[in-house]
Amino acid sequence: MHVPPITHLTAADPQVANLIEAEAHRQHDKLRMIPSENYVSAAVLEATGSVLTNKYSEGYVGRRYYEGQQFIDPIETLAIDRARALFGVEHVNVQPYSGSPANLAVYLAFAQPGDPVMGMALPMGGHLTHGWSVSATGRWFRPVRYTVDRRTGLVDFDEVRDLARAERPKLIFCGGTAVPRTINFAAFAQIAQEVDAVLVADIAHIAGLVAGGAHPSPVGHADVITTTTHKTLRGPRGAMIMTSAGRATEVDKAVFPGLQGGPHNHTTAGIAVALNEATQPAFRRYAHQVVTNAKALADALTERGFDLVTGGTDNHLILIDLTTKGIAGKPAAKVLDLGGIELNYNTVPYDPRKPFDPSGLRLGTPALTTRGLTEEHMPQVAEWIDRLVVAAVKDDQEAVAAVAGEVRDLLSAYPIPGYSASGAG
Ligand SMILES: *Cc1c(COP(=O)(O)O)cnc(C)c1O
Repeated sequence: MHVPPITHLTAADPQVANLIEAEAHRQHDKLRMIPSENYVSAAVLEATGSVLTNKYSEGYVGRRYYEGQQFIDPIETLAIDRARALFGVEHVNVQPYSGSPANLAVYLAFAQPGDPVMGMALPMGGHLTHGWSVSATGRWFRPVRYTVDRRTGLVDFDEVRDLARAERPKLIFCGGTAVPRTINFAAFAQIAQEVDAVLVADIAHIAGLVAGGAHPSPVGHADVITTTTHKTLRGPRGAMIMTSAGRATEVDKAVFPGLQGGPHNHTTAGIAVALNEATQPAFRRYAHQVVTNAKALADALTERGFDLVTGGTDNHLILIDLTTKGIAGKPAAKVLDLGGIELNYNTVPYDPRKPFDPSGLRLGTPALTTRGLTEEHMPQVAEWIDRLVVAAVKDDQEAVAAVAGEVRDLLSAYPIPGYSASGAG
């Protein structure tokens, strides 16, 4: 059952309560391997479920448009100060509602409609908000897209430089949603400087690894850093924009009043709590364990004949090209989910298949590492993935159910915040 018990909700609205209970149970029984997901602490859950949701606070600390900010201002100040200390930046805005609005605020701050803006193409691992055509960022600006090398799967900096010189983008985004390798912030910075572009490092996926010292920091290279707070950083759903003192006013004005109204104070408190957790030695160990686990899993998958984009991983994320296994990403992902392993189908670079039915699987280790699994478990995880992919090819439902049972058995020894199998707190 949910912990703490949701007794008021159960009495007031059993339909919603039952669905939340079911989701808590599902999150306990599944090996959750979507690389952008995690389990937040009970402390973060409490902060985000608090009375702070009742309060309006348009504006910034000390400059609000509503009265009654005696406790909201210190909460936002805590979040800001903790983020500045953790990442070593001069200025932080903690108000963006999520990663996509945070990126949109950067466009509003530093570009005009129709300006050229540059980012990694979505099918290569970039994010929608880096100028993909269905996004407002691709419709209202003029997107310039870099790719990855067909053979290595890595960013080709000669291509990035040539495109930047030819198109003179106002913004250059680096980072993405399906990038299994270390981002070379220095190389992007050199190019951005040469063409006088604002370099934006979107570290949504890797912020926790950066905070924990398991991925190089973009600080000192990128002009602006955007991140979500709910992926490897393990906070509530939200976002932050980090920058220098010199760009602070433009960024703040773009978030409010440029794009948003009142900040979500319950989220701000949850971000403050998560940032405090991220300064603890245990979080540094967590970040490094995420990477150790991903590398061990990549090795075990490779031994089983899986074809990994770029040949492996440097971070929390693995991209499998299933072409050699004789099945597409979507049907495989559906069977894996039934077998207790939750991940997502994904395009691989130069995917010959359609985006809604692509060739790849994207998976990662942030959530299972939070539960306490280590590199010792990764050969078993690879074996389950292998069996489920074979079962998907053969449509063998018994094999799928067998794996789901084994997954549940293992996970019963690894509790999650927010749920108790026994019903006790
Ligand atoms: C997840 C993600 C975002 C968007 O975050 P949302 O909170 O889903 O809007 C932006 N950029 C990158 C690179 C991401 O991975």
